[in-house]
Amino acid sequence: MPLTDTFYAFPIDHEFLPVFAGDKPKHWRNAAKNKGFDLIGRTLDRLHVVLECNHCGNATRKRISVVLGHNPECGHCIEQRRKAAAESVGAVLLGPDPEKDRHYGEYQFECGHIDRRQHLRVEAAAAGGFKLSCRDCTYALHEAEAKFAGWQLVGPALRNNPSYRHYRHECGHHQDVGVANMRNLDVNCAGCEESWASKPSKIYLLSFMLPTIPVIKLGFSNNPIYRVKQVQFDPAETRGTLDREIELETGHAAICVEKALHSHIESERPELIVSRDHFSAHLRTTSEIYHERGRGHISSLLDAVEAGWDPNLSTDWKSFTTHPDRAA
Ligand SMILES: [Zn+2]
Ligand SMILES: [Zn+2]
Ligand SMILES: [Zn+2]
Repeated sequence: MPLTDTFYAFPIDHEFLPVFAGDKPKHWRNAAKNKGFDLIGRTLDRLHVVLECNHCGNATRKRISVVLGHNPECGHCIEQRRKAAAESVGAVLLGPDPEKDRHYGEYQFECGHIDRRQHLRVEAAAAGGFKLSCRDCTYALHEAEAKFAGWQLVGPALRNNPSYRHYRHECGHHQDVGVANMRNLDVNCAGCEESWASKPSKIYLLSFMLPTIPVIKLGFSNNPIYRVKQVQFDPAETRGTLDREIELETGHAAICVEKALHSHIESERPELIVSRDHFSAHLRTTSEIYHERGRGHISSLLDAVEAGWDPNLSTDWKSFTTHPDRAA
């Protein structure tokens, strides 16, 4: 039984194939029919047959062993199913995978970006009613969310979890963070936590000369000397000095004491607070600036802190101070 010079008049899987002369045994035809095809001929060699799909009407070439022993699939039906799935998730199936993986195809998304995707995932998204998100656009979104939170998106997470990414904090520390946590600004930097929350820190008192008035600044830092430099736009003009510092075991304790002192002053001596207009052109800070005339009061509070007063508790700070004259 020879291969002939005659070709089928219709494309078979997008190709024109030669007729292979030979009979079409009944049990072959029955096997094809049971699997949704009509056996319409033979091609190439004694092993291959031409089938017509009962579902879409297109012709396809299969090995007879597949028809007899397996579940032959119509490539045309599969392609149509994939195209419909792509459409329902807002994408277009452009063609086969440029990297030649038969499980993947090249898709174009609503945004216009083109990328390869696993067909099964596209069909799963279609079945689940999801939109198919573009990797480029998703990356850009995650990048913008990170930037807003003070981080930089570096790339995929080190841990094997698809909802995490790897980020770099402003302080230079790198770590994995959940994408949703980053979006909600619910992030703790292990790097900074170490540098300010768990390492020793200090409450400080600084002095500055503004053009019209002398002021003092109460704050916390693990490096008050550096803070004096950093807070001034023009040190020659504002002539900042470090007047006092109290050591605390952790940055966390320092920030708690500092915040409590500010609210203490705000409720007891609000007239000591310098309004922002007076210093915003001269000092890089938004608050924590007091009039020089408050130095006596604030120093007494710091004495009390050194003597063991915790401004977060409602105990009277005056019972901790040994300088009744300052406690005026
Ligand atoms: Zn078909
Ligand atoms: Zn896109
Ligand atoms: Zn950090």
